[in-house]
Amino acid sequence: MNGAIGIDLGLDRSFDPAWLLTPAQQELRERLIELCLTHLRPQAIESDRTLVYPRKNFEALASLGLLGLFVPKAWGGLGENHVCAAMVVETIARYGCPSTAMCYTMHLGAVAALLFRTHTNPNVIPLLQRLDRDVQIGTLSYSDPETGSHFWYPVSSSAVAHPQGWQVSKKASWTTSAGFADWYVVQTTSPDFAGNYADLSCFLIFRDEVQAEPHKWDALGLRGNQSGTLQVDRVVIPENRMIGPKGDGAFSNDEIVDPFFLLCSSACWNGIALGAIDIAKKHTTRKKHVDVGMRVADYPTIQDYVGEAIMDTNASRMFVYSMGQLMDRVTEDCNWSIHENLEALPRSAYLSWYWQIKFTAAKNVAHVCDKMLHACGGSGFKKDMEIERYLRDGKAGWVMGPTNEVLRQFVGKLALLGPDALDYWNQRVNERVLHNEVKKLDATGKRQLAAQLLAEAEAAENRVPMSV
Ligand SMILES: Cc1cc2nc3c(=O)[nH]c(=O)nc-3n(C[C@H](O)[C@H](O)[C@H](O)COP(=O)(O)OP(=O)(O)OC[C@H]3O[C@@H](n4cnc5c(N)ncnc54)[C@H](O)[C@@H]3O)c2cc1C
Repeated sequence: MNGAIGIDLGLDRSFDPAWLLTPAQQELRERLIELCLTHLRPQAIESDRTLVYPRKNFEALASLGLLGLFVPKAWGGLGENHVCAAMVVETIARYGCPSTAMCYTMHLGAVAALLFRTHTNPNVIPLLQRLDRDVQIGTLSYSDPETGSHFWYPVSSSAVAHPQGWQVSKKASWTTSAGFADWYVVQTTSPDFAGNYADLSCFLIFRDEVQAEPHKWDALGLRGNQSGTLQVDRVVIPENRMIGPKGDGAFSNDEIVDPFFLLCSSACWNGIALGAIDIAKKHTTRKKHVDVGMRVADYPTIQDYVGEAIMDTNASRMFVYSMGQLMDRVTEDCNWSIHENLEALPRSAYLSWYWQIKFTAAKNVAHVCDKMLHACGGSGFKKDMEIERYLRDGKAGWVMGPTNEVLRQFVGKLALLGPDALDYWNQRVNERVLHNEVKKLDATGKRQLAAQLLAEAEAAENRVPMSV
């Protein structure tokens, strides 16, 4: 037994890095664990079976003030920090509902995007003040159907100036909580866009301004996540619903969306891994083999599985919490007033570290859940033990953008070739590849290419649209 409520939670508390949390955060964690067991976990099973959106879980989280986790105390929020956010998401995923943990991750990212720019958008403060009271769920709508997991590249979206403000068009291929969230932070190319996809802007859009297709959502795991398509179809919104200055999108990505999403989603993957270890401990210490007089947990093979899973997962946890501590340090403990200076971007300096924590946590969760299922044997294959749900939920980690393929390439490229090689918006010519390919052409091929390039250059200068 462990835990204040006398229920066998699985792994002993001594494996949790409690020293990272303040006394208030430790107390919050205890209350949250109880809420997870009484409210969130039953809903997790229901959402997995019937795809129902876990709004009830958000109502439960609001009862602890968690929707306003980062909102300053002066505005009625908890005024908490990045380490606390990682703890809360990890706890929800571990003891409660991984789908809710992911919806909550997107909510926190969206809240942070608003808090980042309250100095240019004081109009959003009333919304931030009623997040918990009115259970106002937010989310981030970025991914574009044309660019896949390159969510920073919204080619199907636009915004144009309008007499009443902005006319916003957004096509999103995936949006967690699509159609269920009350408000959305969406990213489009900026008004006056002239072909530079780094020129992005963010907007606040409300539920009655979006079109979603929740009936189409069905997936392997995180089934309550409802990450469906979303469309904002030439909706006209007031001028003050552009979040931050025009063209602020890339700063918002580097300072807020990436750091918060990567920190909290990594905590979610760690929570899922821990949840699977908890189940495996509970099962293997109870199940007996009468013929040899042993419990499953008495086999050294099973002890090896669990020992390795704990060490790998705690390595990933410490990595994530360490990044949370760094974010706290560079922002005066998540003090939003530092952003009164619009050029204050302290989190952005550590982008490659956020990539690393996500890669590590998403890689680990898949391996750990797989091994914990092996440790539980055929019993783990059945739904009632819930370990197969954790395994399916954890699979989302690797494929969610930025995907682990993209992340390891980013980090490797950055290390080997430097930051310019990352080329997020496809702007830099790779001279080596270019010359190598041209080298393969014979004289006729080179002449044909030259003629084509000259025609294209002339058309571009004369602004004549080319047919490709
Ligand atoms: C559960 C879930 C919830 C989500 N929620 C949200 C949300 O709330 N908001 C949001 O905006 N998006 C969300 N997404 C979308 C997500 O971030 C990605 O955009 C989406 O998973 C991409 O899927 P895709 O099929 O387009 O992948 P693709 O991009 O087509 O990837 C296919 C394969 O190509 C690889 N690949 C892609 N680019 C490269 C490259 N440059 N180098 C090497 N390999 C590459 C990928 O790693 C992958 O193996 C969610 C996704 C999931 C699974």
